Amino acid sequence: MNEEPFDSDLDIQTLLVHAGNPRRNLQPTALSIYPSTSFIADSPEQLDDIMAERVPGYSYARHGNPTVEGLTDAMKRLEHAAAVIATGSGMAAIDAALFATGLRAGDTVLLSRDLYGASLNLVGKVWAQYGVLSVVVDLTDLQAVAAAFKQHRPKALLFETVSNPLLKVVDAPVLVKMAHDFSCQVIVDSTFTTPLMARPLSYGADLVVHSATKYLGGHGDAMGGIVAAGDVKYYDILHQYIKLRGGILGPFEAWLIHRGLQTLAVRFERQCANAWQLATRLEDSGRLRAVYHPFLASHPTVETAKRLLPAQLGGAVVTLELRGERREAYRFLKALKVVRPATTVGDVYTLCLYPLIASHRNQTEEERMSMGITEGTVRLAVGLEHPDDIYADVIQAVADAD
Ligand code: PLP
Repeated sequence: MNEEPFDSDLDIQTLLVHAGNPRRNLQPTALSIYPSTSFIADSPEQLDDIMAERVPGYSYARHGNPTVEGLTDAMKRLEHAAAVIATGSGMAAIDAALFATGLRAGDTVLLSRDLYGASLNLVGKVWAQYGVLSVVVDLTDLQAVAAAFKQHRPKALLFETVSNPLLKVVDAPVLVKMAHDFSCQVIVDSTFTTPLMARPLSYGADLVVHSATKYLGGHGDAMGGIVAAGDVKYYDILHQYIKLRGGILGPFEAWLIHRGLQTLAVRFERQCANAWQLATRLEDSGRLRAVYHPFLASHPTVETAKRLLPAQLGGAVVTLELRGERREAYRFLKALKVVRPATTVGDVYTLCLYPLIASHRNQTEEERMSMGITEGTVRLAVGLEHPDDIYADVIQAVADAD
């Protein structure tokens, strides 16, 4: 029972505000949610020490919250990071990581051509307003990358280990080495790979970002982002970013994402197994123009994928090239019964996205063609349903679209 240290004859107005708040020391098994905007110090001296970061503690929730810290502590361990912050979304995490590299007007960011569309726009449109330049390059072409480093001397390189939606795997350790030879900092977006498939800090990447909205949270009910830094030198700048720009993660979302982490391994392993089974069965069906999965022998980067990815974990996304164009793609989307048409990945459900009207809607047709995205491209983020049910649903929708 909760013993309250104040008199019970207080006015109901006061009791409404104070009654029920826990006062005794408690040690719950699970991470607790602290939906408090501020925290009370024992003394002004202690508050001063906390604000100056001379002692650990909490003052104002934008500066730190115990539930959010539960998540950032976990991510620190999972990524083998020196400093981690949590943000309100994956995009905010990418923005924070770019900020942490110390970009100034006139600096250049080298961007993977196959980057998530919004990430390309963040640098190409938002950071451009501050005078930051961007150069887009195909990172599977190492000669083109070397030429871009020589010509543009970028301050930062941003890429995803497995691209979206065509699942090209880049030689990330080689790219990190090339970047460092030119004193360029490397940011890797690990959203699609999770710490189970890749730990970019271990091969020298400077910053890793996640849209925690996806596999980390895993249940489609919380948006969030993570920035993990390999070197403690990034601690101050990342914390300044959070405190002053204010794009923090709330305690409820932090709690949901932390709870998601606890089942990440079992979920992700099953999703990867389901995705591999779906990819091979769909390819064998001969009903599609192309099927993309990093481990399919037909995939252009299969050798890199086999060399760099863990044997059983090729990711949980399968991309299809339907026969036909936008009309057929719409018919396919409408015919799906189990698979849900939604613009995300990483949930327990299998989801289908049409890049042309979602992730890549702001790219020009020319840009999309150079990435290999056509009117027939659809992306499946494979979930936890029985693999036979996923396959049956997709193949009947393919038949409907034909
Ligand atoms: N990075 C990748 C690879 C993504 O797919 C996404 C979203 O789809 C993001 C970043 C942005 O994440 P959020 O939607 O949480 O801002």
